[in-house]
Amino acid sequence: MGEIKIAHMYPDLMNLYGDRGNLICLSQRLKWYGFNCKITPVSLGEDLDFNDIDFIFMGGGSDREQDLIYRDLWKRADRLWIEIEEGMPMLAICGAYQLLGKYYQALDGKIMQGLSFFDFYTEGEEKRLIGNIILEAEVTGEKVTVVGFENHGGRTYLNDSAIEPFGKVIKGYGNNGYDKTEGIFYKNLIGTYLHGPLLPKNPDIADFFIKVILMRKGIKLDKKLDNTIENFAHEQVKKMILAG
Ligand code: GLN
Repeated sequence: MGEIKIAHMYPDLMNLYGDRGNLICLSQRLKWYGFNCKITPVSLGEDLDFNDIDFIFMGGGSDREQDLIYRDLWKRADRLWIEIEEGMPMLAICGAYQLLGKYYQALDGKIMQGLSFFDFYTEGEEKRLIGNIILEAEVTGEKVTVVGFENHGGRTYLNDSAIEPFGKVIKGYGNNGYDKTEGIFYKNLIGTYLHGPLLPKNPDIADFFIKVILMRKGIKLDKKLDNTIENFAHEQVKKMILAG
């Protein structure tokens, strides 16, 4: 019934704490909805035909990996921004999210210039922000809780108060451990510190992306999946985090 095409940016370098699980989840859910999914890995220097892509995913990476890819990312900046502005759905996790802003300054002082799509910056600190996290997010149009796991040394500060965070931190650290913001949400792009991986434990967010992908192809999703197991996992994790 049609094929959904996903670009997986730098899968060989940017893939921490099971981030790839987000794509396994998306492709499985798409299959249950009746769509095949083709995932194209895009690594350093490799061409990416944006005309032929329905979703972009980039996972997290350590400072070393970020350093290896950030210049390659710049070369794609102009076209990537046009796509995001036109509503291309994209998920950028942790190290990938940091590179959407002005810069990431690692703990050793090294500065990696980001894509400057958004007016935020990230600076590394000694104490890492590690643990399970709960957010309240509204990307689906309704308030939903989102659960995940974060592990980052960088603190992200949103300079521009007009930037909408992905969610409000209920428990955990989020962007900087301080202002209760987590990630960013712009059009159909989510940038977030949440590994986990995010989508299998948060089917509402997975379906947010799926609905956007299909809507952009002129397809309305009229089938509902049985999320009993996914919601059970979500609730168990939530209980565990709130109790901890
Ligand atoms: N290097 C970044 C940090 O520690 C990103 C790490 C990650 O992607 N988990 O802040």
